[in-house]
Amino acid sequence: MMRGLLLVKSGGAAALPEWQACFAGVAPGLEVRWWDDPTVDPDAVTHVLVWEPTPGRLARYPNLRVIFSSAAGVDHITCDPDLPRGVPIVRMATEETAQTMGEYVCLAALSILRDGNRLAAAQASRRWDSFEQPHTALDKRVGVMGLGNIGQVVARMLRGLGFTVSGWARTPRKLDGIEVHSSLDSLLAESDILVGLLPETPQTRGLIDRERIRRLPRGAGIVNAGRGSLIVMPDLIAALDEGHLGAAYLDVFDPEPLPADHPAWRHPRITVTSHVAGFASRRARARAVVAALEAQERGEMLPNLYQADRGY
Ligand code: NDP
Repeated sequence: MMRGLLLVKSGGAAALPEWQACFAGVAPGLEVRWWDDPTVDPDAVTHVLVWEPTPGRLARYPNLRVIFSSAAGVDHITCDPDLPRGVPIVRMATEETAQTMGEYVCLAALSILRDGNRLAAAQASRRWDSFEQPHTALDKRVGVMGLGNIGQVVARMLRGLGFTVSGWARTPRKLDGIEVHSSLDSLLAESDILVGLLPETPQTRGLIDRERIRRLPRGAGIVNAGRGSLIVMPDLIAALDEGHLGAAYLDVFDPEPLPADHPAWRHPRITVTSHVAGFASRRARARAVVAALEAQERGEMLPNLYQADRGY
């Protein structure tokens, strides 16, 4: 039976009983305690499941075997300057996360397609704005940046809506019905809607800047649900104001929360959502943690392992 002490920091202390119930169902030998519980013996901690762990804290657990991120990204863990060396970090990957991210991106792409900004403005000013809709998904191309656990599901869901979908990732691959570009520039040139589903790494930070935005067709839309640092915001806002971009639908920002005085909040062509695109139930995340630990017990590689050399 799987044994150990799992320290949890995800969802607030009030979430602990639910976490304990979720793990009791799948790993009864695993003791589950809250991050700030003063009675926990640091030597007893074998695993952690965390979102934004306090910097320096993970180094206090000498017997820590695995760090689980409670979400898909790990940048909130790897930014800790005192991160213990040699302890594997596992990214959260669940079907629920990919499904909910797909739902969000489809919502955003359809909103851009049907001019959701104009519809919202009409309602806000009580104006009956019965305009002609010139396009359907069948004549729009969506380019997906990032074809990992989430990007592949998102690409399939967009295709199901009728969009022509292509993608781009670090390593080449074949995906049914989806053209995978080997260069970002060629993806940009063919994307009426560009979707960001990339992790934050030194290579992805600031990738979508003025020059790359210019490579998109005039009037293109951008959806970003990966990490906010991907986009140089002043360049995006300038491109919207100049009319080179038609709309942006953004779930992630740098920094978060988006400051109250940030121009994105009030921009008529930007939809702001508060990092809500993807989510997974605690039950699904507990199952993913236990499945990873079972794989490790069988002597297999931990799945969804963070690799420092590639940054995700
Ligand atoms: P994965 O690690 O499974 O996939 C990452 C993808 O990005 C891979 O296809 C990878 O390429 C590609 N990639 C990474 N670096 C580069 C690069 N420099 N150039 C080109 N492609 C690159 O992650 P997930 O799909 O699970 O999640 C993606 C991101 O989505 C997370 O890192 C997180 O930041 C974000 N996220 C946001 C949520 C929200 O609510 N807004 C919720 C969940 C996740 P390759 O396939 O070649 O390895």
